[in-house]
Amino acid sequence: MNKKAVSLLSGGLDSTLATCILKEQGIEIEAINFQTMFGCCKDDAREVATRLGVGFTLLKVGDDYLDMIKNPKYGYGRAINPCVDCRSYMFTMAKKWMDQMGASFMISGEVLNQRPMSQKMRDFELIEAECGLEGRILRPLSAKRLPETEPEKAGIVDRSKLFGIEGRSRAELLKLAAKYGIENPPSASSGCALTEKPFAEKVRDVFENRPDYKRWEFEVLKTGRHFRLSSEAKVILGRNENENQYLISLHPEGTWLLEPEQFIGPYALVVGTASDEDLGMAGAIMLRYSQNPRPQSGVVRAVQNENAKTIRVPHGASEELINSLRIA
Ligand code: SF4
Repeated sequence: MNKKAVSLLSGGLDSTLATCILKEQGIEIEAINFQTMFGCCKDDAREVATRLGVGFTLLKVGDDYLDMIKNPKYGYGRAINPCVDCRSYMFTMAKKWMDQMGASFMISGEVLNQRPMSQKMRDFELIEAECGLEGRILRPLSAKRLPETEPEKAGIVDRSKLFGIEGRSRAELLKLAAKYGIENPPSASSGCALTEKPFAEKVRDVFENRPDYKRWEFEVLKTGRHFRLSSEAKVILGRNENENQYLISLHPEGTWLLEPEQFIGPYALVVGTASDEDLGMAGAIMLRYSQNPRPQSGVVRAVQNENAKTIRVPHGASEELINSLRIA
Protein backbone atom coordinates (compact mmCIF):
# COMPACT_ATOMS: atom_id res chain seq x y z
CA MET A 1 0.00 0.00 0.00
CA ASN A 2 1.41 3.42 -1.03
CA LYS A 3 0.47 7.08 -0.52
CA LYS A 4 -1.11 7.45 -3.93
CA ALA A 5 -4.89 7.72 -4.41
CA VAL A 6 -7.47 8.43 -7.08
CA SER A 7 -10.13 10.98 -6.11
CA LEU A 8 -13.58 11.02 -7.69
CA LEU A 9 -13.88 14.76 -8.18
CA SER A 10 -17.20 16.10 -9.48
CA GLY A 11 -16.36 19.75 -8.86
CA GLY A 12 -19.04 19.94 -6.13
CA LEU A 13 -18.25 20.90 -2.55
CA ASP A 14 -18.14 17.40 -1.04
CA SER A 15 -15.60 15.87 -3.41
CA THR A 16 -13.52 19.06 -3.33
CA LEU A 17 -13.34 18.88 0.48
CA ALA A 18 -12.53 15.16 0.41
CA THR A 19 -9.62 15.89 -1.92
CA CYS A 20 -8.39 18.78 0.26
CA ILE A 21 -8.47 16.65 3.43
CA LEU A 22 -6.35 13.87 1.97
CA LYS A 23 -3.99 16.25 0.17
CA GLU A 24 -3.34 17.89 3.53
CA GLN A 25 -2.21 14.47 4.80
CA GLY A 26 0.42 14.29 2.06
CA ILE A 27 -1.42 11.85 -0.20
CA GLU A 28 -0.47 12.06 -3.87
CA ILE A 29 -3.79 12.49 -5.66
CA GLU A 30 -4.95 12.01 -9.22
CA ALA A 31 -8.50 13.31 -9.72
CA ILE A 32 -10.95 11.81 -12.19
CA ASN A 33 -14.40 12.64 -13.40
CA PHE A 34 -16.78 10.92 -15.82
CA GLN A 35 -18.25 12.12 -19.04
CA THR A 36 -21.69 10.56 -19.48
CA MET A 37 -24.37 11.19 -22.10
CA PHE A 38 -26.30 13.16 -19.50
CA GLY A 39 -23.79 15.69 -18.24
CA CYS A 40 -22.30 16.31 -14.85
CA CYS A 41 -20.05 19.21 -13.93
CA LYS A 42 -16.86 18.12 -15.69
CA ASP A 43 -15.67 21.69 -16.44
CA ASP A 44 -16.02 22.58 -12.77
CA ALA A 45 -14.08 19.46 -11.82
CA ARG A 46 -11.17 20.32 -14.10
CA GLU A 47 -11.08 23.85 -12.69
CA VAL A 48 -11.12 22.60 -9.09
CA ALA A 49 -8.34 20.08 -9.80
CA THR A 50 -6.19 22.85 -11.26
CA ARG A 51 -6.87 25.03 -8.23
CA LEU A 52 -5.95 22.21 -5.84
CA GLY A 53 -2.83 21.36 -7.82
CA VAL A 54 -3.77 17.73 -8.54
CA GLY A 55 -3.76 15.90 -11.87
CA PHE A 56 -7.08 15.49 -13.67
CA THR A 57 -8.44 12.94 -16.13
CA LEU A 58 -11.88 12.76 -17.69
CA LEU A 59 -13.06 9.20 -18.32
CA LYS A 60 -15.76 8.70 -20.95
CA VAL A 61 -18.34 6.06 -20.07
CA GLY A 62 -18.93 3.31 -22.63
CA ASP A 63 -22.18 2.52 -24.43
CA ASP A 64 -22.78 -0.21 -21.83
CA TYR A 65 -23.59 2.65 -19.42
CA LEU A 66 -26.91 2.95 -21.29
CA ASP A 67 -27.62 -0.76 -20.89
CA MET A 68 -27.04 -0.34 -17.15
CA ILE A 69 -29.55 2.56 -17.05
CA LYS A 70 -32.09 0.51 -18.96
CA ASN A 71 -31.81 -2.52 -16.66
CA PRO A 72 -30.42 -1.50 -13.27
CA LYS A 73 -29.87 -4.27 -10.77
CA TYR A 74 -30.79 -2.06 -7.81
CA GLY A 75 -33.60 0.05 -9.32
CA TYR A 76 -34.19 3.78 -9.76
CA GLY A 77 -34.40 6.79 -7.50
CA ARG A 78 -37.15 9.40 -7.95
CA ALA A 79 -36.70 9.66 -11.73
CA ILE A 80 -34.59 7.38 -13.93
CA ASN A 81 -31.44 7.64 -11.83
CA PRO A 82 -30.05 4.18 -10.99
CA CYS A 83 -27.61 5.62 -8.46
CA VAL A 84 -26.32 2.39 -6.86
CA ASP A 85 -25.65 0.78 -10.25
CA CYS A 86 -24.25 4.03 -11.60
CA ARG A 87 -21.82 4.41 -8.69
CA SER A 88 -20.77 0.76 -9.09
CA TYR A 89 -20.18 1.38 -12.79
CA MET A 90 -18.08 4.46 -12.08
CA PHE A 91 -16.09 2.91 -9.24
CA THR A 92 -15.34 -0.08 -11.47
CA MET A 93 -13.99 2.28 -14.15
CA ALA A 94 -12.07 4.18 -11.49
CA LYS A 95 -10.57 0.95 -10.17
CA LYS A 96 -9.07 0.17 -13.57
CA TRP A 97 -7.63 3.68 -13.65
CA MET A 98 -6.34 3.29 -10.10
CA ASP A 99 -4.54 0.05 -11.01
CA GLN A 100 -3.09 1.70 -14.10
CA MET A 101 -1.83 4.63 -12.00
CA GLY A 102 -0.33 2.32 -9.39
CA ALA A 103 -2.52 3.97 -6.73
CA SER A 104 -3.59 2.09 -3.59
CA PHE A 105 -7.00 3.48 -2.76
CA MET A 106 -9.82 5.73 -3.78
CA ILE A 107 -11.22 8.94 -2.29
CA SER A 108 -14.90 9.78 -2.45
CA GLY A 109 -16.75 12.86 -1.17
CA GLU A 110 -19.84 10.84 -0.30
CA VAL A 111 -21.47 11.68 3.02
CA LEU A 112 -23.26 8.96 4.93
CA ASN A 113 -27.09 9.29 4.65
CA GLN A 114 -26.88 12.49 2.61
CA ARG A 115 -28.67 11.09 -0.45
CA PRO A 116 -31.42 8.50 -0.10
CA MET A 117 -30.52 6.40 -3.11
CA SER A 118 -26.81 5.63 -2.84
CA GLN A 119 -25.31 6.95 0.38
CA LYS A 120 -26.66 4.69 3.07
CA MET A 121 -24.27 2.31 4.86
CA ARG A 122 -25.82 -0.64 3.03
CA ASP A 123 -25.25 1.10 -0.34
CA PHE A 124 -21.59 1.77 0.46
CA GLU A 125 -21.05 -1.91 1.34
CA LEU A 126 -22.95 -3.08 -1.72
CA ILE A 127 -21.04 -0.82 -4.11
CA GLU A 128 -17.66 -1.80 -2.65
CA ALA A 129 -18.52 -5.50 -2.96
CA GLU A 130 -19.78 -5.07 -6.56
CA CYS A 131 -16.48 -3.42 -7.56
CA GLY A 132 -14.11 -5.57 -5.51
CA LEU A 133 -12.99 -2.48 -3.60
CA GLU A 134 -13.72 -3.53 -0.03
CA GLY A 135 -11.75 -1.37 2.38
CA ARG A 136 -10.23 0.71 -0.40
CA ILE A 137 -12.78 3.51 -0.78
CA LEU A 138 -12.02 6.21 1.76
CA ARG A 139 -14.80 8.72 2.46
CA PRO A 140 -12.98 11.29 4.61
CA LEU A 141 -16.08 13.39 5.37
CA SER A 142 -17.85 10.48 7.09
CA ALA A 143 -14.88 8.19 7.84
CA LYS A 144 -15.33 8.21 11.62
CA ARG A 145 -18.82 6.73 11.20
CA LEU A 146 -17.62 4.04 8.80
CA PRO A 147 -15.41 0.96 9.22
CA GLU A 148 -11.67 1.60 9.10
CA THR A 149 -10.31 1.39 5.55
CA GLU A 150 -7.03 -0.22 4.41
CA PRO A 151 -5.02 3.05 4.17
CA GLU A 152 -6.12 3.95 7.70
CA LYS A 153 -5.15 0.51 9.00
CA ALA A 154 -1.78 0.80 7.25
CA GLY A 155 -1.14 4.19 8.89
CA ILE A 156 -0.95 5.95 5.53
CA VAL A 157 -3.95 8.08 6.49
CA ASP A 158 -4.43 9.48 10.00
CA ARG A 159 -7.99 8.56 10.98
CA SER A 160 -8.01 11.09 13.82
CA LYS A 161 -7.84 13.91 11.26
CA LEU A 162 -10.85 12.64 9.30
CA PHE A 163 -14.50 13.59 9.96
CA GLY A 164 -17.76 12.02 11.11
CA ILE A 165 -20.31 14.04 9.16
CA GLU A 166 -23.67 12.42 8.47
CA GLY A 167 -27.00 13.45 6.94
CA ARG A 168 -28.31 16.21 4.72
CA SER A 169 -27.27 19.30 6.71
CA ARG A 170 -24.56 21.36 5.01
CA ALA A 171 -23.52 23.26 8.13
CA GLU A 172 -20.40 21.15 8.84
CA LEU A 173 -19.45 21.10 5.19
CA LEU A 174 -19.67 24.88 4.96
CA LYS A 175 -17.43 25.22 8.05
CA LEU A 176 -14.88 23.01 6.34
CA ALA A 177 -15.21 25.03 3.14
CA ALA A 178 -14.27 28.13 5.11
CA LYS A 179 -11.30 26.29 6.67
CA TYR A 180 -9.98 25.33 3.23
CA GLY A 181 -10.63 28.81 1.77
CA ILE A 182 -13.30 27.63 -0.67
CA GLU A 183 -15.18 30.76 -1.67
CA ASN A 184 -18.79 30.58 -2.92
CA PRO A 185 -19.16 26.85 -2.23
CA PRO A 186 -21.19 25.19 -5.01
CA SER A 187 -24.73 23.95 -4.29
CA ALA A 188 -25.41 20.33 -3.37
CA SER A 189 -27.12 19.56 -6.70
CA SER A 190 -25.86 16.43 -8.45
CA GLY A 191 -26.08 18.13 -11.85
CA CYS A 192 -27.35 14.82 -13.24
CA ALA A 193 -30.27 15.07 -15.66
CA LEU A 194 -31.33 11.50 -14.84
CA THR A 195 -32.70 12.77 -11.52
CA GLU A 196 -35.14 15.13 -13.32
CA LYS A 197 -38.57 13.67 -14.02
CA PRO A 198 -39.28 15.44 -17.37
CA PHE A 199 -35.86 14.38 -18.65
CA ALA A 200 -36.53 10.82 -17.48
CA GLU A 201 -39.59 10.77 -19.78
CA LYS A 202 -37.35 11.47 -22.76
CA VAL A 203 -34.93 8.71 -21.77
CA ARG A 204 -37.80 6.22 -21.33
CA ASP A 205 -39.19 7.21 -24.70
CA VAL A 206 -35.93 6.19 -26.42
CA PHE A 207 -35.71 2.90 -24.51
CA GLU A 208 -39.34 2.08 -25.38
CA ASN A 209 -39.32 3.01 -29.04
CA ARG A 210 -35.74 2.49 -30.23
CA PRO A 211 -34.53 -1.06 -29.50
CA ASP A 212 -31.28 -0.40 -31.43
CA TYR A 213 -30.62 2.97 -29.83
CA LYS A 214 -27.36 4.79 -30.46
CA ARG A 215 -25.38 6.90 -28.04
CA TRP A 216 -26.19 10.19 -29.85
CA GLU A 217 -29.92 9.59 -29.29
CA PHE A 218 -29.27 10.16 -25.58
CA GLU A 219 -26.69 12.90 -26.06
CA VAL A 220 -29.28 14.92 -28.01
CA LEU A 221 -31.93 14.70 -25.27
CA LYS A 222 -30.77 17.93 -23.64
CA THR A 223 -31.26 19.80 -26.90
CA GLY A 224 -34.56 21.08 -28.28
CA ARG A 225 -38.24 20.21 -28.01
CA HIS A 226 -39.09 16.54 -28.47
CA PHE A 227 -42.30 15.20 -30.03
CA ARG A 228 -43.26 11.60 -30.72
CA LEU A 229 -45.26 11.25 -33.93
CA SER A 230 -45.55 7.43 -33.81
CA SER A 231 -43.60 4.47 -32.43
CA GLU A 232 -41.46 4.86 -35.57
CA ALA A 233 -40.80 8.59 -35.75
CA LYS A 234 -39.77 11.37 -33.40
CA VAL A 235 -39.14 15.08 -34.08
CA ILE A 236 -36.55 17.23 -32.32
CA LEU A 237 -36.95 20.97 -32.81
CA GLY A 238 -34.22 23.54 -32.13
CA ARG A 239 -35.23 26.18 -29.56
CA ASN A 240 -32.66 28.78 -30.59
CA GLU A 241 -29.87 29.40 -33.08
CA ASN A 242 -27.31 27.38 -31.09
CA GLU A 243 -29.62 24.36 -30.98
CA ASN A 244 -30.41 24.70 -34.70
CA GLN A 245 -26.69 24.69 -35.45
CA TYR A 246 -26.19 21.67 -33.20
CA LEU A 247 -28.91 19.73 -35.04
CA ILE A 248 -27.39 20.71 -38.41
CA SER A 249 -23.94 19.53 -37.36
CA LEU A 250 -25.30 16.36 -35.74
CA HIS A 251 -27.63 15.22 -38.57
CA PRO A 252 -26.88 11.48 -38.21
CA GLU A 253 -27.12 9.09 -41.14
CA GLY A 254 -30.68 7.92 -41.80
CA THR A 255 -32.34 10.89 -40.06
CA TRP A 256 -34.15 13.71 -41.89
CA LEU A 257 -32.99 17.29 -41.33
CA LEU A 258 -35.78 19.80 -42.03
CA GLU A 259 -34.91 23.39 -42.89
CA PRO A 260 -37.51 26.17 -43.02
CA GLU A 261 -37.78 27.83 -46.44
CA GLN A 262 -39.74 31.01 -47.00
CA PHE A 263 -40.26 31.50 -43.27
CA ILE A 264 -38.09 32.12 -40.23
CA GLY A 265 -38.36 29.19 -37.85
CA PRO A 266 -36.60 26.30 -36.16
CA TYR A 267 -34.75 23.42 -37.80
CA ALA A 268 -35.99 19.93 -37.05
CA LEU A 269 -34.43 16.49 -36.94
CA VAL A 270 -36.75 13.56 -37.62
CA VAL A 271 -35.44 10.33 -36.06
CA GLY A 272 -36.65 6.87 -37.09
CA THR A 273 -38.58 5.68 -40.12
CA ALA A 274 -40.61 8.69 -41.19
CA SER A 275 -43.44 8.62 -43.73
CA ASP A 276 -44.30 11.64 -45.91
CA GLU A 277 -47.16 12.24 -43.50
CA ASP A 278 -44.68 12.34 -40.59
CA LEU A 279 -42.47 14.83 -42.45
CA GLY A 280 -45.54 16.97 -43.14
CA MET A 281 -46.42 16.85 -39.45
CA ALA A 282 -42.86 17.83 -38.50
CA GLY A 283 -43.18 20.78 -40.92
CA ALA A 284 -46.47 21.79 -39.27
CA ILE A 285 -44.76 21.77 -35.84
CA MET A 286 -41.93 23.90 -37.25
CA LEU A 287 -44.46 26.36 -38.58
CA ARG A 288 -46.17 26.53 -35.18
CA TYR A 289 -42.83 27.55 -33.62
CA SER A 290 -41.90 30.01 -36.38
CA GLN A 291 -41.16 33.57 -35.37
CA ASN A 292 -43.34 36.62 -35.71
CA PRO A 293 -45.02 37.21 -37.98
CA ARG A 294 -46.07 33.55 -38.03
CA PRO A 295 -47.10 32.69 -41.63
CA GLN A 296 -50.30 30.79 -42.41
CA SER A 297 -48.41 28.28 -44.59
CA GLY A 298 -44.81 27.50 -45.49
CA VAL A 299 -42.30 25.35 -47.32
CA VAL A 300 -39.74 23.04 -45.71
CA ARG A 301 -36.74 21.37 -47.32
CA ALA A 302 -36.04 17.86 -45.99
CA VAL A 303 -32.68 16.12 -46.48
CA GLN A 304 -31.76 12.53 -45.62
CA ASN A 305 -28.41 11.14 -46.80
CA GLU A 306 -28.57 11.70 -50.61
CA ASN A 307 -32.35 12.29 -50.67
CA ALA A 308 -34.02 15.69 -50.63
CA LYS A 309 -37.69 16.69 -50.71
CA THR A 310 -39.66 19.88 -50.68
CA ILE A 311 -42.66 19.76 -48.37
CA ARG A 312 -45.53 22.21 -48.56
CA VAL A 313 -47.04 22.89 -45.14
CA PRO A 314 -50.60 24.26 -45.43
CA HIS A 315 -50.89 25.35 -41.78
CA GLY A 316 -49.15 25.14 -38.41
CA ALA A 317 -49.97 22.41 -35.86
CA SER A 318 -52.69 23.27 -33.35
CA GLU A 319 -51.88 23.77 -29.66
CA GLU A 320 -53.90 20.67 -28.82
CA LEU A 321 -51.94 18.53 -31.26
CA ILE A 322 -48.62 19.93 -30.04
CA ASN A 323 -49.52 19.05 -26.45
CA SER A 324 -50.56 15.53 -27.36
CA LEU A 325 -47.27 14.86 -29.19
CA ARG A 326 -44.86 16.51 -26.74
CA ILE A 327 -42.70 13.95 -24.92
CA ALA A 328 -41.85 16.06 -21.87
S1 SF4 B 1 -27.13 11.23 -9.60
FE1 SF4 B 1 -26.80 10.55 -11.73
S2 SF4 B 1 -24.54 10.50 -11.98
FE2 SF4 B 1 -24.98 10.55 -9.77
S3 SF4 B 1 -25.03 8.41 -9.14
FE3 SF4 B 1 -27.15 8.96 -9.60
S4 SF4 B 1 -27.45 8.40 -11.74
FE4 SF4 B 1 -25.23 8.44 -11.38
